[in-house]
Amino acid sequence: MNITSLDELKKHIDLTEDEKDFDEGRNGLPILISDSIMSLMSSQAIRRQFVPSSAEQSDALGNLDPLMEVEHTASERLIHRYRNRAALLMTDCCFAYCRHCFRRRFTATEQGPISDREIEDVCSYLTVHGEIKEVLLTGGDMFTLSDSRLDVILSRLKAARKDIIYRLCTRALLSNPSRFTDRLFDVIGKNSEGAPYVLMTQFNHADEITKQAKDIVLRFLQLGIPAYNQAVLLRGVNDSVDEQERLANTLMDARIKPYYLFQGDFVNGTGHLRVPLSRGLEIEKELRLRLSGLAMPQYTLDLPEGGGKVILTKDYLVGRNEDGWIFESPYGGIRHYPEDI
Ligand SMILES: *Cc1c(COP(=O)(O)O)cnc(C)c1O
Ligand code: SF4
Repeated sequence: MNITSLDELKKHIDLTEDEKDFDEGRNGLPILISDSIMSLMSSQAIRRQFVPSSAEQSDALGNLDPLMEVEHTASERLIHRYRNRAALLMTDCCFAYCRHCFRRRFTATEQGPISDREIEDVCSYLTVHGEIKEVLLTGGDMFTLSDSRLDVILSRLKAARKDIIYRLCTRALLSNPSRFTDRLFDVIGKNSEGAPYVLMTQFNHADEITKQAKDIVLRFLQLGIPAYNQAVLLRGVNDSVDEQERLANTLMDARIKPYYLFQGDFVNGTGHLRVPLSRGLEIEKELRLRLSGLAMPQYTLDLPEGGGKVILTKDYLVGRNEDGWIFESPYGGIRHYPEDI
């Protein structure tokens, strides 16, 4: 049974004062915690991501659409901000709502799944815009849609453009692992003609990567679908070098490549979970010394006012003189590299 109120939640865990003071009557992201997440609730990292707190409601900073996605909306549900790739909002529903959700302007707003007409609009748009090479199937969580609905949508998208790499973006490996049935994999498998799919997971803490989640990744791999993870840097969840190191290595062990580590967007209601950028940079610098190149995620900020994504890293290139370029070595000391070769 999904938990949808503080009253139900109280029957399972002792709430702190801040959690009790969350006002359910006020507009904002509703409470939705799935069974599989409840079973991991003894993890503080899980609790902070899914149990709401009154801090969300005293957050006066930020706005609901800092990335100006609405302005870049090309057709009802397609956000076309980067020339060669676009994001398709498949539905506003998820199996559980993350308190750090950056797409609060859309998530759980009861707009529901994408309609047939919207799909047709998107397909026409993709047909005309040959420059689009990748489309993120996101939301919300695309796997809240039924098998038959996914079958229709995937086959229409593939019929329109089978050369596009469609990214399957989901948190359901954590929030509803039983969704990944043989039938679902059949639906994905039979709509696999053309360019590959890519699985995009969101795991923010090593505690989230369960045996079930690892088995699901293997099923995707058997269909030739590789997995990449996008994590969010969250205060009190994963804002330490040790936790990030453990997350990255656990992901690698689960055959998932750590792709992005996002700096929290300036979204209203998520301030208590954001980490100062200076702290994020410190973590990134230390992490780079501890992790292999493969295991290292790119620390990334989606700039406010729709400025796009930028990679954040300590500057190793510190200057230039008449002899060429001056670098700081990650292992200490200064090195030079000439401009004239
Ligand atoms: C992040 C994002 C993408 C994908 O960007 P990558 O850097 O290729 O992962 C595409 N469209 C939108 C609107 C995005 O926010
Ligand atoms: S799964 Fe994604 S869209 Fe859904 S609540 Fe979490 S962050 Fe938001």
